Amino acid sequence: MAKTKPVYAFEEADSKKRMLLGGKGAGLSEMTRLKLPVPPGFTITTEVCNKYYENNRKLPKDVMPLVMKNIEKIEKKTGKKWNSTKNPLLVSVRSGAAISMPGMMDTILNLGLNEKTVEGLATQTQNPRFAWDSYRRFIQLFGKVVFGVNDEKFDHVLDSAKTKQKVKDDSQLSVESLKKIVSEYKKICEKHTKRKFPDSPNEQLGLAIKAVFKSWMGERAIVYREKNNITKDIANGTAVNVVTMVFGNMGDDSATGVVFTRNGHNGKKEIEGEYLINAQGEDVVAGVRTGKNVALLKKEMPKSHKELSNACSKLEKHFREPQDIEFTIEQGKFYLLQTRTAKMSAGALVKTSVDMVKEKLIDKNKALTRIPAQQLEALLHRTMDESKLKNFKQLAKGIAASPGAASGIAVFDVKKAIEWGEAGKKIILIRKETKPEDVPAFFSSEGVLTSLGGKSSHAAIVSRGMGKPCIVGCSELKIDYDKNTCTANGKTVKEGEIITINGSVGTVFIGQVPTVEPKVTKDFEQILEWAQKTKVLGIRANADTPEAAKLARKFGGQGIGLCRTERMFNANDRIGLFVDMIMAENIEQRAKVLKKLGQLQKSDFIQILKAMEGYEVTIRLLDPPLHEFLPNPEELSEKIQKLKAKKATKEIKKAEIVLKRARELAEVNPMMGHRGVRVGVTYPEIYEMQIQAVFDALVELTKRKVKAHPQIMIPQISSIAELNHIKKIYDSIKKETEKKHKMKLNINFGTMIEVVRAALTANELATTAEFFSFGTNDLTQGTFSFSREDVEGKFLPEYMEKELLERSPFQSIDVNGVGSLIKIGIANGRGIRKNMEVGICGEHGGDPDSIKFCHAAKLSYVSASPHRIPIAIVAAAQAAIEQPKRK
Ligand code: PEP
Ligand code: MG
Repeated sequence: MAKTKPVYAFEEADSKKRMLLGGKGAGLSEMTRLKLPVPPGFTITTEVCNKYYENNRKLPKDVMPLVMKNIEKIEKKTGKKWNSTKNPLLVSVRSGAAISMPGMMDTILNLGLNEKTVEGLATQTQNPRFAWDSYRRFIQLFGKVVFGVNDEKFDHVLDSAKTKQKVKDDSQLSVESLKKIVSEYKKICEKHTKRKFPDSPNEQLGLAIKAVFKSWMGERAIVYREKNNITKDIANGTAVNVVTMVFGNMGDDSATGVVFTRNGHNGKKEIEGEYLINAQGEDVVAGVRTGKNVALLKKEMPKSHKELSNACSKLEKHFREPQDIEFTIEQGKFYLLQTRTAKMSAGALVKTSVDMVKEKLIDKNKALTRIPAQQLEALLHRTMDESKLKNFKQLAKGIAASPGAASGIAVFDVKKAIEWGEAGKKIILIRKETKPEDVPAFFSSEGVLTSLGGKSSHAAIVSRGMGKPCIVGCSELKIDYDKNTCTANGKTVKEGEIITINGSVGTVFIGQVPTVEPKVTKDFEQILEWAQKTKVLGIRANADTPEAAKLARKFGGQGIGLCRTERMFNANDRIGLFVDMIMAENIEQRAKVLKKLGQLQKSDFIQILKAMEGYEVTIRLLDPPLHEFLPNPEELSEKIQKLKAKKATKEIKKAEIVLKRARELAEVNPMMGHRGVRVGVTYPEIYEMQIQAVFDALVELTKRKVKAHPQIMIPQISSIAELNHIKKIYDSIKKETEKKHKMKLNINFGTMIEVVRAALTANELATTAEFFSFGTNDLTQGTFSFSREDVEGKFLPEYMEKELLERSPFQSIDVNGVGSLIKIGIANGRGIRKNMEVGICGEHGGDPDSIKFCHAAKLSYVSASPHRIPIAIVAAAQAAIEQPKRK
């Protein structure tokens, strides 16, 4: 492999090397090659960033000389001069990792200004106000990023200057005033650093480059990477781009803007975005001023608009992906400052995938693989029930920035939103605008509402990326952070009051508006149809009720991989009956209750099997420990105390009997206790009832000519002896039922593999089991000895923070550990029964990365909750495309 260089000019870099150049650097070099108008510049690679860290946060010696050589190259191209008093070259220093992390790292603008060059800029532009304003901005940004000075200190100086001069807007400040501000700003920095503010552009540049590298390990960048699973193989360090400054704030013939080549919200083929006249780059992105719709640019600056739309179509054709573009117009001259793949809403991704196939820009495989399967969740989100809306008051309307409806309590404070969200409260975060450091609050909120900003503002982009509903630019909303309230149209919402936001249309309502199931669009159907045809894995549902079975089928599920029968007892009208069964004093009493329960199960099975006609339905016999159905002993004791105070003798007696039984059944470690097949062995009448109910349901459906395919699955099996013990019960019920109804009944008998020993002895189990289903929830629990109920809320976050684990193994399969057990189990099982059906029914069955593992491991199917089925279908298709030959 050719040796890499530490620094590449845009025209000499190989833009395919995103890991080396970062996304921004790669985009700038590719645009330069395409002969698009990009200001000259160069990229310092991510390798240098890594060396900076290895080198105790120092730049390798060869870097600055190379940087200065590249500055000379820019001088030649632009005719400008570094540190010149006549025609000074100014640069921006921008971060850019292999994967876009919007706003998470630092950028410095107008670098190269000092007391001398500022005068040069003033003479050259004949605009001293502009020159000094640029200098002021530079010191503030440099002070903040390089020295860590708090923004508020600068804001305070600026505000008092405005008050003194009796003006409202920065742009009205006089040159004299700006000069004073510059001097004050420098003093702030000097007080903070106890050294003179650096005047030498060379020194400024060196410090700025180091500061950008440092921001890679800044707290907000680390949190962002953690939350978005950006591991080192995806992005390893940031690059630094040094780009010739072009100014969008040089007057009314200058502007700056951010656009998507297609609508990022709904996917329509139209340039979408905002621009600001006479503004500097970051103003649009920060959302401080709400920008003008880019459609207006056609009227205001027709020539630039034409250049913009030409660039958009050229870039789309080249990258075969809608682009997110930053541009600047400097005194009528159009420049592109960035291009990257547009981060779109799930709906927009789906629509653009279908449209681009029609336009022959991409093929179907590309259309499927470009959609992050996980993001489809947003399309499966609820929307507001329009028919109920009339009962609610609309508080305000803003800009719809990320689709979906969400209700929650209004919270105006970022810290509170994090604390309360983590404590399980449903939060709507309400802010004037949001900043990157607020991102942790996005994770703990149901949705986000801001009064400022446009569709390209921070709040909008981050929410869309997370698939959370978001409304921005809701200017009617007056937010009062001191009182923790917001007011619009004469109505006030206080902290803690419930509101509902609809990120699809931008409306805000007071109260909890009922929501409805999402509808799958035609484009989404098209994607699912392509995915169904492409995937190899079967997709089944974890469904326990007829309704869930119907929903699963509607979403494209082909069968049920896990029907947890105990969930059928949880309904209000049944739990009492189940408790009676547990409390039965003798076998006869228990048999009576079981008969009733058996009838209920049979009727449920009939409905579920009917909803899944033609497909396998795997019915798992009772799994949890019995005490889970009884009240908590502590709570019950408290209740008894209260009853005693009331002298309710009869009730006390009843409760005391339940308490005694609950205590008898209580276990120190119930997840490893008397559950699953162990209950079936010790209370055979329960499994007998369940097996009989499945056979009876099949008899009835067979008579009705419904094609039912139930399969019976035993949980928590650890040995062939256990399995054979239950198989005997199954065989005798089968024989009797067949005899009684004079028909042959075919119900596959199989086992879950969720105990480590089961995976290791799967060859033995396969002598009896006709199918396997990996219960990866318990298997993960057993493999790690991590209590699945506790760890995610306890030490796992710290484990991830300390990089002891990349992700929770309960969300995404631990390939090396649990994955190995799965592979052993499959090989052992299929060694005995060739082509044996082997599936997975733990929560991992709906996780795209785990699905890719399952495809490679040659599982027959994955089983996921009904709402995740479309995600699973697309992920399975992606796996089939990415791994055409199953390994
Ligand atoms: C499992 O353990 O993966 C499983 C599906 O069973 P449950 O979650 O019901 O224990
Ligand atoms: Mg289990």
